[in-house]
Amino acid sequence: MFKRLRRKFSQDIAIDLGTANSLVYVRGQGIVIFEPSVVAVNQKTGQILAIGNEAKKMVGRTPGYITATRPLVKGVVSDFEVTEQMLRYFIEKVYKKKLILGFLPRVIVGIPSGVTEVEKKAVFDATKNAGAKEVYLIEQPIAAAIGARLPIQDAGGNFIIDIGGGTTEIAVISLGGVVLSKSLRIAGDKLNQDIVNFVQEEYKLLIGERTAEEVKIKIGSACSTKECGFSKEFNSKSRGKSSRTKVSSDEKLDSSISPQSSNSKKEAPIRGRNLITGLPEEIIVPEKAICKALKKSIKQIVDEVKNIIEETPPELLADIMSKGIYLAGGGSLLKGLDVLITKETKIPTKVVEDPLTTVVRGAGLVLENLDELREVLVDTEEIEPPK
Ligand code: ADP
Ligand code: MG
Repeated sequence: MFKRLRRKFSQDIAIDLGTANSLVYVRGQGIVIFEPSVVAVNQKTGQILAIGNEAKKMVGRTPGYITATRPLVKGVVSDFEVTEQMLRYFIEKVYKKKLILGFLPRVIVGIPSGVTEVEKKAVFDATKNAGAKEVYLIEQPIAAAIGARLPIQDAGGNFIIDIGGGTTEIAVISLGGVVLSKSLRIAGDKLNQDIVNFVQEEYKLLIGERTAEEVKIKIGSACSTKECGFSKEFNSKSRGKSSRTKVSSDEKLDSSISPQSSNSKKEAPIRGRNLITGLPEEIIVPEKAICKALKKSIKQIVDEVKNIIEETPPELLADIMSKGIYLAGGGSLLKGLDVLITKETKIPTKVVEDPLTTVVRGAGLVLENLDELREVLVDTEEIEPPK
């Protein structure tokens, strides 16, 4: 009887606290919240002013003492207090502020693979303090693999790469557990920063990270050095004064590397401030230039994927070769990345459907089938021994 009542009043939820976006899945309903992981804090008083969408709107438009912080820098909880507030905000938003004692929700939270016990405990405690009755933790690569509907409970290898804002998680999963994993601090944010730096160096133009992200989404692509073919001519052309001349847009990128690049978006205007004159300026940047800006970071990601492949036990590798490598997370939407990884690893690589929601959908599936899938959860007995 109580169980039925509890079901009626408490909606169990799954939360993906990403470094860029946070998503909430409610059992029986699906994804109900998808907001940026941003918290606006008044540094003078320490007061939290806004969370999520509202906080993001404030970024860069508020007085200096109001700063937008991301509770999860590089995928770990950097500010316990802020993280707890953010979790509370999401939980209360689901409940429309009506948390009834005795009907508190069970909450599953995704955490990066390989975090320390201290970090696990931090997320666990923050979730509990935020109003959860029971807290379950799930490693994000496992959730991503479940979200991608990979058969992770079988005795076979599954390879998943989740490229988020702060981190890229590369994992080999078998029998419901992570066999090998690596968390790399090179992901979407780093690519944005690469564009900021590149535009500053090559075009003497100062741009913000948001502008860089827009450019990345619009014309960014992953391409290998050879095919991208940065001729000396391009390098010399893009320096000094002549960099402001429009670089020809018909410098075609090898179509085998970036099949989607045949669409019309070959260049993009970028607005910023000229570092020499101090005045606003708009330049036109070709796809190739952005590809060059991202090259180093992309190579680091690909190299790390290769390292993990080298370490993978041969039996599992055989499965992976036939199943392929799966890409999840917003960063996996970078044009041509799947093609590049396929080429570099010789293993077919594909982007999962709806990569931005994979982790929360996977955690949601665990919530829907808690009895069958309980074993894929992180063991939290050390944090909270069973009563
Ligand atoms: P997290 O799990 O860390 O919150 P997400 O999986 O939500 O991260 O992915 C966010 C990242 O994906 C951001 O860095 C964003 O710039 C990047 N991203 C989103 N869409 C695209 C796209 N079309 N091309 C390239 N990067 C993208
Ligand atoms: Mg993520």
